[in-house]
Amino acid sequence: MSALDQEQDVVDLAEKLGLTGSPVAAIINFCQDQIDTWVQESGGVTSVDELEAVVADRLNLVFEEVNEESDFDRLKAKYVPMGEPIFAALKLDLTDDTYGTMIRLKDGTHVAVIDCRGDKAARRFFTRWHEIAHLLVEEDVDKQVFRSTDEPLERLMDQIAGHVGFYDSIFSPLFNTHISEGGRLTFDIVEAVRQEFCPYASFQSTLYACHRRLTTPLLYIEARMEYTANERRGLKQMRMFDNDKPEKKLRVRLAVPNGPASEMELTARNNMRVPESSVVYRAFAEELTDASGEENLNSWTFSKGGSLIDCEVFIQARRIDQAVMATMQPNNGR
Ligand SMILES: [Zn+2]
Repeated sequence: MSALDQEQDVVDLAEKLGLTGSPVAAIINFCQDQIDTWVQESGGVTSVDELEAVVADRLNLVFEEVNEESDFDRLKAKYVPMGEPIFAALKLDLTDDTYGTMIRLKDGTHVAVIDCRGDKAARRFFTRWHEIAHLLVEEDVDKQVFRSTDEPLERLMDQIAGHVGFYDSIFSPLFNTHISEGGRLTFDIVEAVRQEFCPYASFQSTLYACHRRLTTPLLYIEARMEYTANERRGLKQMRMFDNDKPEKKLRVRLAVPNGPASEMELTARNNMRVPESSVVYRAFAEELTDASGEENLNSWTFSKGGSLIDCEVFIQARRIDQAVMATMQPNNGR
């Protein structure tokens, strides 16, 4: 059970759909089953574009994308004469932190408008499947603005999107042609899978999809400059001119082991320091997009004593903006 399973909105949704068991898993399965049925009835799909077309057709959903400002005028000219004045004000909906919005037309068609301007383009694939997820669990969406909020249902839609968008019967065979039995997952492999599966899916979401399917242990981490929890508390009480302010250090902010990694306790602790000797630290400090190396995780120590497991790992790291992401895979037998 994840934290999301405890959220009342999520529990209520599962109940409304008549589902039992862990709410998140049950809702994801419900969506997956629905799509599987449609795919079967359509005679099968061979690409993610075909899949999306089948699903959109069943949901009476059309996509519109905004790539530049002039697209607002185009959509206004297209939909306002159809008696849908809301399209005149579309731009107001797509604020900086909003990736998509969904509008139900008078004839029942759902129009999902996907914002692909600037940095938002990287989430294009995800935003499309996020909007699909809304309709899978709730047919009568009146108007759905997708903001990158932390609301439980929005996080749930992202989880559904990550699952059903990387459709297993398309993704897994493709993934398996790129990875040899027991072989290591590298950034190059992730990129090759991404290019073949869906070039507009982000590298990170593709990496997650690979991570989940890998039969060997892989720990995914993200680190950024951060204070300790104590320092954060202290800072709130401190005045600006205090000169013994603590310094931010590179710390683990996310650690996601896959199944086999969990089994061998290959994981990291939230907020622990990344040792300066690590390739993860070097990738961050030198702003490298592809740094790799081998190290023993017993050099990843805790301030109160102890360390991560004693294990030689292969690490690959990439700096992205103000963070660094890395994969760690045990070295044994390679
Ligand atoms: Zn949403």
